[in-house]
Amino acid sequence: MHLARFPRRTYTEGRTPLHPLPRFSAALGGPEIWIKRDDATGLAGGGNKTRKLEFLIADARAKGADLVITTGAPQSNHARLTLAAAAVEGLRTRLLIEERVPGTYAEDAVGNALLFDLMDVDRIEVVPAGSDLAAGLEAMADAARGEGFTPYVIPGGGSTPLGSLGYVACAEETLQQAFEQGVAFDHVVAASGSGGTHAGLVAGLHGATAGVPLTGVSVRAERAAQEAKIHRLASETFALAGGAGEVPRDAVVVRDDQVGPGYSLPTEAMGEAVRLLARTEAILADPVYTGKALAGLIAMVREGTWSADDRVLFVHTGGSPALHAYPAQVRAG
Ligand SMILES: *Cc1c(COP(=O)(O)O)cnc(C)c1O
Repeated sequence: MHLARFPRRTYTEGRTPLHPLPRFSAALGGPEIWIKRDDATGLAGGGNKTRKLEFLIADARAKGADLVITTGAPQSNHARLTLAAAAVEGLRTRLLIEERVPGTYAEDAVGNALLFDLMDVDRIEVVPAGSDLAAGLEAMADAARGEGFTPYVIPGGGSTPLGSLGYVACAEETLQQAFEQGVAFDHVVAASGSGGTHAGLVAGLHGATAGVPLTGVSVRAERAAQEAKIHRLASETFALAGGAGEVPRDAVVVRDDQVGPGYSLPTEAMGEAVRLLARTEAILADPVYTGKALAGLIAMVREGTWSADDRVLFVHTGGSPALHAYPAQVRAG
């Protein structure tokens, strides 16, 4: 696979750090846990969507777009980073906000929603959970064309095969850093939501014949549905990247024990994970994605998945701006 064939904008200088978490690992008494700091990508607040947007916004520019339209939840990191990428490119942005938890969209909200205003979102439309988002995005694009814009639509999370190339790139970058640091990983754990991160990592690790198992921790869907979705997207991403052959179905593993009452709704284990990472390593996770993904990793440690000399990599996908929108949910007691 040769990703340099794809047009790309660069929003992160150099590579994101890869380093061990000695105090976090010691507190858990399990394997040696490492972290890939994709919370430290470029654009306002950083996070995993930055890597996807490098490919998506390059495509938007190639197509002459002057307006980007995308969708997400009221505290969407993806919407924040799409706005940020559009801002630095001089493009406008319109958002279709899906109120996944009824009553959670508020014009005066903090966290990511505050940053939507700060980065000058052109228009926000709010629809209830379960709305047909693809149709909603198309309607917004039609309206924009009627106003003389050339819109570019990015589906939720930027999880198209093109966007997922960002996580093929992350897998390649991580393997190169692991080689330079002389560390061989036995397992990778990451959050699995709209799926581009998980699918891109699967495609990248498979394409590099890395032989490292990857567990995606679902933040919303149940296991069977999420695995089917990720396998489909990983296969399309792998084919787009020029990979030969098929992505094996068993390369896609999801656990869904951390979803709790539902997307973005807090769990005890999430709060514990967010606090433990902050107290031991001064690294901020988030309540919706990385807190639950880390809780999945902690559950695997406690289940005895690994031995003391195994090395486990957690891919930190960002999200800490959302912490400020959920103070009660992440505070102890
Ligand atoms: C979007 C998001 C994820 C999930 O990534 P997907 O590619 O949508 O599966 C994980 N962590 C954070 C902080 C996110 O914003």
